[in-house]
Amino acid sequence: MTATIPETVDRPACIRLDESDPLGHVRARFCMPESVVYMDGNSLGALPAQTQPRLAHVVDNEWGAALVRSWTDAQWIDAPLRAGAKIARLVGAHEDEVLVSDTTTVNLFKLATAALQARPSRRVLVTERENFPTDLYVTEGITTLLPGRVARVVDRASLRDALDEDVALLALTEVDFRTGEVHAMAELTEAAHTAGALVLWDLSHSAGVLPIDLDGAGADLAAGCGYKYLNGGPGAPAFLFVSRRLQEELRNPIQGFLGHEAPFAMEPAYRPARGIRSWMTSSPSIIAIAALESAVDLALELDIEQVADKARSLTQLFIHLADARLARFGFELASPRDPGRRGAQVSLHHRSAYGVVRALIDRGVVPDFRNPDICRFGMAPLYTRYVDVWDAVQRTVEVMEAGSHADPSYAERSYVT
Ligand SMILES: *Cc1c(COP(=O)(O)O)cnc(C)c1O
Repeated sequence: MTATIPETVDRPACIRLDESDPLGHVRARFCMPESVVYMDGNSLGALPAQTQPRLAHVVDNEWGAALVRSWTDAQWIDAPLRAGAKIARLVGAHEDEVLVSDTTTVNLFKLATAALQARPSRRVLVTERENFPTDLYVTEGITTLLPGRVARVVDRASLRDALDEDVALLALTEVDFRTGEVHAMAELTEAAHTAGALVLWDLSHSAGVLPIDLDGAGADLAAGCGYKYLNGGPGAPAFLFVSRRLQEELRNPIQGFLGHEAPFAMEPAYRPARGIRSWMTSSPSIIAIAALESAVDLALELDIEQVADKARSLTQLFIHLADARLARFGFELASPRDPGRRGAQVSLHHRSAYGVVRALIDRGVVPDFRNPDICRFGMAPLYTRYVDVWDAVQRTVEVMEAGSHADPSYAERSYVT
């Protein structure tokens, strides 16, 4: 059940919410410095404590001692399938529909290219202008590569109108990275299918934090990020999903030896493996997959509905406090007020957003800045406490009252924001 936020809330009330939080114990399963109020789990998830000994084992025993034998003895060769089968349980897919591989961008490239090639009589790939830049860049790159193909990049409100008999693929991100707004996956998937198009969902801001039902929604293809709410570590491998319905029909355009039916036969010609394995391209990053798998194991101990409930409660508390305490400084809510249409983040517009974020980081609160004017507060429910929400808002009030956000040293933007 979503926690009820009292009308007049103070810091002790937030501590009480933490004490009665059914997920309160999960925070101790992560390494999290006490001095930091971390609000950026949607950019880089925290380190699960159990990941450290797992990695030590992989490095010392499997790599250091057993060397090349570990491809077989430690089942390295199946790691992408094994980790994929675990992620499948988080995204409502069958075990043989998900593979851990490459990065989100590379997976989007593989899946979107395959989809367009499977629908040669249709020219158009539809996506939305507000999509994450990498998704837009990849789309543009694919349409440059494939003769006669075009991208139709439209506003969110025009997506349904953009679906006609020319459309081969609708490619969307379920949760908007700037605002946290959630798309209605089942409805949009159905609209695309009615128009005869395939659908590709980017789950980067939803996997691990919202219940996802790819098969129930009739989704065709999906990809998602391993280092945000999945806590797989910086640059963690990503995952991809190909519906069983399409596994025979679609073909991985990056034909590498590990996607071959018999990789170690070393044949000169490519023959795709059957099933999800054919979406492998290269040797998997074993150490990185071990980190991701360790974090997914932790996530699978929890009830995703409970996780999503906590995300709604945390973001509701933040919005309540922002309305009461931050509006007077010129902050405006950029995220949906309806908790059912919101991911695990609250974004606020402010004309000095960059300075605000830098000033907060210098005071131990870590949100992030997103162009052009957004302060983004991510509230990963596995390790964010209600009291962190209180402290983040309190620190923001202090920054604004002192004018710290106008510090001249924040005039120049860092390369990474
Ligand atoms: C974070 C994110 C990515 C990341 O792509 P990489 O190739 O892993 O760097 C892609 N799409 C969306 C929507 C994201 O939020």
